[in-house]
Amino acid sequence: MIWTERDGISYLIPSWLTKGVIMAFSTRLGGVSAGPFAWLNMGGRVGDDPANIAENRRRFYAAIRVRNVTYPTQVHGDRIVRLDRLPTHPEHADALVTAVPGLAVGCMYADCVPVGLYDPVNRAVGVIHAGWRGTALDIAAKTVKAMRDEFGSRAHDLFGVIAPSIGGCCYQVDDVVRLAMTEADAEYACAFTPDTPGHYHCDLQQINRMSLLKAGVREGNIDVSGLCTHCDPRFYSYRRDGRATGRMALVACIERI
Ligand SMILES: [Zn+2]
Repeated sequence: MIWTERDGISYLIPSWLTKGVIMAFSTRLGGVSAGPFAWLNMGGRVGDDPANIAENRRRFYAAIRVRNVTYPTQVHGDRIVRLDRLPTHPEHADALVTAVPGLAVGCMYADCVPVGLYDPVNRAVGVIHAGWRGTALDIAAKTVKAMRDEFGSRAHDLFGVIAPSIGGCCYQVDDVVRLAMTEADAEYACAFTPDTPGHYHCDLQQINRMSLLKAGVREGNIDVSGLCTHCDPRFYSYRRDGRATGRMALVACIERI
């Protein structure tokens, strides 16, 4: 991914980003929130001042040129919702897909894996929230299939991005998580490094990359950030900072021509 700055807001964009699509991942840099939410908290239900959240969103949206971003109520599942218009109520889902120009979709993160998809042929995007449960449900691969079913997207045309999340360096898990992953796909075992007995370091970005590859996305079309939200103070981290912390957003939108 590429660090970008506009109007005092620092954010990351996929290295493959081209004209016709907007996709950006926010960081902590450039907002007005204070205390544990400093600075650019995008999350609405974390205890931050609503006026600050509104100002942070206004700044980030202005910097990346979107408006009215729709977020789902994230439930750590594998439900994928197609959006054709602004919804009247939040969908309970962990991925949104759309082919409507100007209709921006997003998800919120603080350690979970943000995955973005773009189909330049059918002009469609998808945003995915992949925590360990969603990852074990192969939500990345399922979203590729959903874009095929909904928009006719062919996997080998798709571009994917895996934005900063907690890295294998800091994400220690137990046998429950390892078993859930290897039951989904035995090959995911390679993303685990043994730690203390019964514990492992787990590379969720690698598993989501494997999930996209398995669904047919080309290796050269997947941009993996490799950045760890727990190591890097430019990001919020739930594991590092606890319950009172902010959220980053991955936002995507097909541009109006
Ligand atoms: Zn780390």
